[in-house]
Amino acid sequence: SFSADVVPQAPEDPLFGLMAAYRRDTDPNKVDLGIGAYRDDDAKPWVLPVVKLADEKLHSDPNLNHEYLPIAGLADFTSASQKLILGGDSPAIKEKRVTSLQTISGTGAVHLGALFLSKFYRPNTHRTAYFSDPTWPNHFQIFGNVNLPTATYPYFSKQTKGLDFDAMIGSLESAPEGSIIVLHACAHNPTGVDPTQDQWKKIAQVIRSKKHFPFFDTAYQGFASGDLARDGWAIRYFVEQGFELCIAQSYAKNFGLYGERAGCFHFVTSPSSEAESTIARVASQLAILQRSEISNPPAYGARIASLVLNDPELFAEWERNLQTMSGRIMDMRRALRAKLEELGTPGTWNHITDQIGMFSFTGLTEAQVMKLRNDSHVYMTKNGRISMAGLNTKNVEYFAKAVDKAVR
Ligand code: PMP
Repeated sequence: SFSADVVPQAPEDPLFGLMAAYRRDTDPNKVDLGIGAYRDDDAKPWVLPVVKLADEKLHSDPNLNHEYLPIAGLADFTSASQKLILGGDSPAIKEKRVTSLQTISGTGAVHLGALFLSKFYRPNTHRTAYFSDPTWPNHFQIFGNVNLPTATYPYFSKQTKGLDFDAMIGSLESAPEGSIIVLHACAHNPTGVDPTQDQWKKIAQVIRSKKHFPFFDTAYQGFASGDLARDGWAIRYFVEQGFELCIAQSYAKNFGLYGERAGCFHFVTSPSSEAESTIARVASQLAILQRSEISNPPAYGARIASLVLNDPELFAEWERNLQTMSGRIMDMRRALRAKLEELGTPGTWNHITDQIGMFSFTGLTEAQVMKLRNDSHVYMTKNGRISMAGLNTKNVEYFAKAVDKAVR
């Protein structure tokens, strides 16, 4: 009954296929620019010093056990997560207009939000979720799995390798009223292109006038600029403006807790006399969804993050670690651009330093990407995205020369 016409062979996940090809390559100069995980200057995974400190603290606690967490997760973690993304003095927190559940990292938070919306957002009407073109490909799968129709709004301009702002606004204006608009809070994946604060204000205006529902995906707070408040600005602005919205928050990148799956989902409602009752009802339904999906979330990553978020000294150390990561990435952006300009590589390369966060959309074509792989053992996704974290002081010149060769 599971014959090929019922269960056809699915294509391999492109990113995981790329990783396998990189591992098979025996060339000593090979460069991995596919992986979306931070690497230090020796191309090695980096355990944040603050995570080591929190880990020691956790394991010296004689009361540590392996009991279940509550359905909504570790309360110290979810409340600190609210403060982190919304700001400590957020009116939404003061007015009890937020409910939060610990999730299986950012992916689980996007999923829980999508599942909730599929059940409760304007039921029995045609609701479409709009993603930036391009976006993190998993958005399509996650929203598709809960039967929400998906569409895209223009985002990246191939000409400027920056934001195609007018086209984006035009598309949000012409989307059916009440659409779900998924927005990357900062360090857009895969392009590295973020709206300016003035552009965010205009985006908020259009979303308000079209009664759209904003859904923020935040996977890089503190990792983009090194400044947590700055990277959280867009979400805080929307909340200040009184929007009702969802937030999917990941701690994979900014804590280097990739495999521990620490994340949080927040639902914020607008200020009104019914806000508290809305939050209570929404929270009760989210708890039922969570129960049927995972029963209760995993403890370790949330315990580590919670120790750091709730301790001023550890928090300050975390901010220093964030600056180490974001600073090294910015150094690599500057070094790559400088090398390409020094080589006189055809094209313009200002976008390398204009873009922000872990990824850069280089503008390299699929043919050039394949040439880089075959001739120079450099691995990146076919859309020309590179993970800046894969570059370091030892390979950035090699990579620049390989790009130069591939585009000539
Ligand atoms: N959203 C975006 C835009 C991302 O880039 C990522 C990480 N690749 C995630 C969500 C979620 O990742 P995770 O489940 O590892 O937290």
